[in-house]
Amino acid sequence: MSKLLSKPEEKKIRERVPFGQPDSSPFPALVLDGPDDVKDVWPMKEDVRAMEFSGAWRSAVGALAIDILGGKARGKYVRWRIQKHFFTTVSAWRETVRWAKEAETKNFQARPLLVELSEGAPWGNYVFQILRDKRRASALFIQLFGTQNAVPCRRCERMMREAHLKGYTGMYPFFPCRSFIPGSALGGNKSSACACCSFNLTGHKCSFHNADSAAGYLVASDFTGSLPEDINDDNSPMVARLSPEFLISYIEERTSGAPASGGQEYW
Ligand SMILES: [Zn+2]
Ligand SMILES: [Zn+2]
Repeated sequence: MSKLLSKPEEKKIRERVPFGQPDSSPFPALVLDGPDDVKDVWPMKEDVRAMEFSGAWRSAVGALAIDILGGKARGKYVRWRIQKHFFTTVSAWRETVRWAKEAETKNFQARPLLVELSEGAPWGNYVFQILRDKRRASALFIQLFGTQNAVPCRRCERMMREAHLKGYTGMYPFFPCRSFIPGSALGGNKSSACACCSFNLTGHKCSFHNADSAAGYLVASDFTGSLPEDINDDNSPMVARLSPEFLISYIEERTSGAPASGGQEYW
């Protein structure tokens, strides 16, 4: 018997309002429909304007494009498309870089990297948090190549459930809840914490951390309600892309910096 979710927690999942449905939140959604909306939806705070646009920050933005999504993701999540050298660019842990090289060599298919919109700008919290702590680059990698958990971990589930009450988007910084699971291409004997908990630096508390049986992921296999993919390419098509060039010049105009470097492929 798995201890990953208690009966009350399973019940809460059953009762969950399916994500992506219109909700009755009193908080306005941040709607980003194209480059013209960037300044309104993602205002650049004064302390960021005062920063020098150089070094790791510039390199990271140069390895990042952002897809603005319509449909269910509209106003909630954007898709980050990171170039393959992103992990070296942000000085990720050696192990993460090694994973990234392995994923590239073996041609693993990356999954869409959906990032919560409100802090998902290149001058938003998530980018700076990645630059500040290498563990978060590993979390990004889990989200790219991990497996979607049959039910979200406790924290992700709670984030989704409470979102409309507390006025935030849903689970963050990523959607959905993914981990490396035993038996998967990059998984070991034990499962990893999910990417959201890892990014939050509370991976050790994630209900999927070090689970040793694949059965753990089917903890709610008797669950017959709908836990839909919720957001996918079909229901959330890209409506605009903010290229690295656009993002770099946008930031350059508002801060100060040095010339950009290029790149091609994206995950
Ligand atoms: Zn999770
Ligand atoms: Zn978790």
